[in-house]
Amino acid sequence: MVKRYPDIPPKEINSGLEKEFGLSLPYMKLWRAREQARDTIFGSVDDNYKWVPTMAAELLDRNPVSYITYTFNATDNSFQRFYVSFKVYVDGFLYGCKPLISLDACHLKSKYLGVLLSANSVDGNNGLFTIAFAVVEAESKHSWSWFLKNMVETIGSNLSTLSFISDMEKGLGEAIKEIYPEAEHRICIRHLWKNIKSPTLYSYLISLPYKWSRSQFMIGTGHATNTNNFAESFNAWIADARTKPAVDLIDLVRGKVMEQRAQRKMTSLTWQRELVPNVEEYIRDITTRKDHLVVRQASNFKAEVEGLHSRHIVDIERKHCTCGVWQLIGLPCIHAVAFIGMKEHPL
Ligand SMILES: [Zn+2]
Repeated sequence: MVKRYPDIPPKEINSGLEKEFGLSLPYMKLWRAREQARDTIFGSVDDNYKWVPTMAAELLDRNPVSYITYTFNATDNSFQRFYVSFKVYVDGFLYGCKPLISLDACHLKSKYLGVLLSANSVDGNNGLFTIAFAVVEAESKHSWSWFLKNMVETIGSNLSTLSFISDMEKGLGEAIKEIYPEAEHRICIRHLWKNIKSPTLYSYLISLPYKWSRSQFMIGTGHATNTNNFAESFNAWIADARTKPAVDLIDLVRGKVMEQRAQRKMTSLTWQRELVPNVEEYIRDITTRKDHLVVRQASNFKAEVEGLHSRHIVDIERKHCTCGVWQLIGLPCIHAVAFIGMKEHPL
């Protein structure tokens, strides 16, 4: 039972025993028996940590120029942290992703404990794109700073546009300010909303050192998200790794990312058109919408576009609309599309 389901709850073991042998055992006895069985089957946690240096060497050997580093506690020599960012992760992010990074901490389960820190971006087709992950002892400003400093070693610190999005993680805000002072830090609006207890909502919101409103977001990230959905998808995707000790966990996540990339590569080979499917769908959707818009052309490149409730100025040359969408997501908004779609337009 334990081999097939390492996290099987003691209660379920009990019902299995009852069914098969008519036996019923106390909860703690079952819990300890499960731990013992896990150690026998998967090796003990201490044994697992012994493999940390070997795994790091092996990963580097198979993935040259990757960035893999780990630390042991100086006083008792126990395992502390392990950071993984393969060269393909970094290259893919720098050449094919939006300059938006979701950061998240996800608590590891069962007796191994610790926290999995992850950095994910989105590729051109809006697919989740892992940049780095690490197992650390706990979430703090210290561990987040360490994580971000490692990231500087790979993606650098001088990207002209860079935005982070996260929940209100412990110590993360300060760590970003310290390591990436120029970057934007968006806070997940859903998370923010859940945590608002202040009766003076407005003053609370404007006092926050984070961005939470789209109108405030940095131009050029190509993504308007104000929720940390990438982190949620990542955590759900690697859920079965959360119960494993460090070495197995890292190997499992590595394997998953590798398979995902291979799958995407095969899928993208079937794409025949100039635009990626996700953008194509957006353009199809926006060009077939039935919004009633009145376009008043001012010059070759400028027009005033009026809808039922709003009026905006589109400037095609600058890829700009006063609604803000074009600048934010990098794709023309409904107003720009209405203008470009006019017969009189020379484009
Ligand atoms: Zn617009």
